[in-house]
Amino acid sequence: MQKITVVGTGYVGLVTGVCLADTGNRVRCVDLDADKIEKLRAGAPPIFEPALTDLLTANLAAGRLSFGTDSAEAVAAADVVFICVDTPPRADGSADTSRLEEAAQAVARAATGPCVIAIKSTAPVGTAAQIERMIAAHSAHRLTVVSNPEFLKEGSAVEDFQRPDRVIIGSDDAAAADRLRAIYEPFVRNKRPILLVSREAAELVKYAANSYLAMRISYINQIAELCGRLGVDVDDVRRGIGCDDRIGNEFLYPGIGYGGSCFPKDIPALCALGRAQGVDLPLLDAVHRVNVRQPLLLLEAARAYFGGRLSGRTFALWGVAFKPRTDDLREAPALRIIDGLLTEGAALCAHDPRALPNLRRAYGDKLRYADDAYDALKDADALFICTEWNEFRAPDFARLRAALRRPAIFDGRNLYAPDQVRSAGLDYFSIGRVPVRRG
Ligand code: NAD
Repeated sequence: MQKITVVGTGYVGLVTGVCLADTGNRVRCVDLDADKIEKLRAGAPPIFEPALTDLLTANLAAGRLSFGTDSAEAVAAADVVFICVDTPPRADGSADTSRLEEAAQAVARAATGPCVIAIKSTAPVGTAAQIERMIAAHSAHRLTVVSNPEFLKEGSAVEDFQRPDRVIIGSDDAAAADRLRAIYEPFVRNKRPILLVSREAAELVKYAANSYLAMRISYINQIAELCGRLGVDVDDVRRGIGCDDRIGNEFLYPGIGYGGSCFPKDIPALCALGRAQGVDLPLLDAVHRVNVRQPLLLLEAARAYFGGRLSGRTFALWGVAFKPRTDDLREAPALRIIDGLLTEGAALCAHDPRALPNLRRAYGDKLRYADDAYDALKDADALFICTEWNEFRAPDFARLRAALRRPAIFDGRNLYAPDQVRSAGLDYFSIGRVPVRRG
């Protein structure tokens, strides 16, 4: 059992805190957001993440997990502090580490003895070392800063934390590394590695992993665009290359691009890091540029279909979360589609199995919202699909055809086989495949 404090109780911090309490540690999670803490104390996660509620309530009940807003009180008793605060992008694309610095300074002021501070936030190379130097002045105790990047995926975050592909511990301090290794041992009984590397390498692993995955998505999206022009089905190409063991199928699905709180900010942040070192990273610049353009291609298809104008049209939209099994809207490609449609004077009714409350908070009465997918179709000319939730995969096509005025589907996630939609009598536009047109 270790006494652990988690600073920043968002997607990463909450999952970390709950999972570490579940292996027997005594965990205190703190956050500046008092509303969030209030909900968590009552056993209600402020985010949707599969399996989270059960673990939260079980560990609260067992007395191993608690929540607060006072980091001083929380840190005083801790052996290890995990910092999981957000590192948003600055205007130039670089990562803003100011919240990380503030959190680390607060930890240093509150520490009543030696302590290991593990940075889980994604932060540029050199951040952990710089923070260790910065906080030394704020404490009489030995505070060791370790880089411990997190690789969980929203939508399967609990599962990913409990069965990580690997754990990266970036430290040159053997005692601090051992302490973290002991915390992670229960999660790597499947013999996945705990890799001990330098702090700088750990920081770079996180950016390099995210930018590689983003690159695969932008790569297949480029191939999809070419397929669209050539009249080739991108699915045939995707399967053809994915069967190669050296390539594989993961992160090779064409669509309206990646979103979320990580890839869209981490790729520009890595490019900014390169620029600061005098290293041009044109490949990664292109990955980002392709992604920014990707949702616009679906809007272009709709504009062409409706004779060059979308104003006065009404659309249904299924799926707004940046991926299935989360309610997270941060940088969701659906928002680009929504903004584009609203700017052009179209009306919109959105449905998402989990993210509607967040969408309502962001858009208020600019949109209509439907709790049921088919209710969203009322008065709609056509349907946009922006998130590949499972419940959208086998719709009642006859009902869609009857409800939509035109009837057309603009599918940003290639959910349906073109033949299937053709025989249902709908027009169908997807990414990198020949459009289906009635008659
Ligand atoms: P988030 O915005 O959901 O959570 C951050 C939390 O930190 C917020 O609740 C905020 O109120 C709190 N906070 C900010 N400053 C604070 C302070 N000084 N003291 C206490 N609380 C403070 O962010 P997130 O998605 O959990 O991401 C956190 C970090 O982890 C980021 O660097 C991100 O890039 C990285 N990361 C995120 C994911 C993911 O899937 N979300 C995965 C891996 C890594």
